Amino acid sequence: MKVFKFGGASAKDPEGLKNITEIIKTYGASDSLVVVISAIGKTTNALEDVVHAKIQDKNKAFELLLKIRQSHENYIQNLFLELPELLMEDINEHFVEVEWIIEEDREMSYDYMYDQIVSIGELISSRILYHWLLSIDIKAAWIDAREIIRTDDTWREGRIQWNVTNQQIQDALIPLLNEGKMIVTQGFIGSTMENNTVTLGREGSDYTAAILSSALAVKSMTIWKDVPGVLTGDPKTFENVTKLDRLSYTEAIEMTYYGAKVIHPKTIQPLENAQIPLYVKSFIHPTQSGTYISGDPDPEYPPIVVLEPNQALVHFSSKDLSFIAEYHLAKLFSLFDRFRIRVNMMRNTAISFTICTQHDEFKLNQLFEELHDEFRIVVDPELELYTIRHYNEYMLPELFKGKLILLEEKIRNTVQRVVKTTAPIVHKNKTT
Ligand code: ASP
Ligand code: MG
Repeated sequence: MKVFKFGGASAKDPEGLKNITEIIKTYGASDSLVVVISAIGKTTNALEDVVHAKIQDKNKAFELLLKIRQSHENYIQNLFLELPELLMEDINEHFVEVEWIIEEDREMSYDYMYDQIVSIGELISSRILYHWLLSIDIKAAWIDAREIIRTDDTWREGRIQWNVTNQQIQDALIPLLNEGKMIVTQGFIGSTMENNTVTLGREGSDYTAAILSSALAVKSMTIWKDVPGVLTGDPKTFENVTKLDRLSYTEAIEMTYYGAKVIHPKTIQPLENAQIPLYVKSFIHPTQSGTYISGDPDPEYPPIVVLEPNQALVHFSSKDLSFIAEYHLAKLFSLFDRFRIRVNMMRNTAISFTICTQHDEFKLNQLFEELHDEFRIVVDPELELYTIRHYNEYMLPELFKGKLILLEEKIRNTVQRVVKTTAPIVHKNKTT
């Protein structure tokens, strides 16, 4: 058994979808196969725009939704010679459901509404792939991920209820796989005990694939991407990046934790627990070897640079000049947890405490509301966080030329720096 995950870029147009089919036929046909797909192209971003618009201007929301609908309809018309009626009906239903939500005046939490709207991207893309496979005589079954992936009701970041999820996956999928059917399902979504749709966090389809892989104890999982594998830096930002042929699970977790976008950070843990190897391969050059991630010992790594844009340093100091003691820190951290504020770096002095975090104004304002009586708070916005694993001292001056370093930490083989750049965010640097 194998699990393949295809991201939005791989299915961005009908040609892409046909390419996915070729990959499935060439590399998946000899095993039982579960295929996890994300929303087509940039659909998730477009659906997020619908969510924002619903708050301010319903008509705008309808307009944006219509654009998404039209682009999917064009896609389908370009793909199929004969439009599958069932597909058209199902897709219509998904869009109508979102129309109802836009129409709805009842108070609902933003995050809950987000999940109900944004989740249709994957439902639609998976239905298109499924009908396409049927049309070319591949035996397949479409599975609604909400029937198998059970989470709590942490909207936009559902936490997996492992026992139920594993059981549901096995019960639903194994009989179909035994019938020789390929499974097509959605990444990124699940549902609560009350059958409400939940998303697992942006880019969460990788995580879904890992959950399925571990529940089914598959032989391997493959993420098919538009890059040759896991690279030593983001090629959009850095020159001279090279592909890593092998990575340990631990190294992959570290990289993704610090913000490497190539795999969703939660993906590795379920795979590591079940010792399932992960391949990251190119859907453009599928014959190339990609990156192999496993429990094998670490190879020698070159320097790996991870850049997180849109960071802020937030400084807290107690108004009465009392020391920042454990009491204060405990309070701060419980609020970070409540508002899901991730601390990327931190530092304390006698009367102040500083964190580096994603500059999410909405979340930070909620936090400040709770704290402004007790703390003086200062925010340094528009910063970048660099994390360099396996660094060497020679590379640092070149990499940080023209940047003001506001906070630095070196631990063993990793250096982290929070910097302010005067140049635009996209800048070409050498990583080695
Ligand atoms: N479609 C979702 C997103 O863009 C999930 C994913 O692609 O993994 O975030
Ligand atoms: Mg994606």
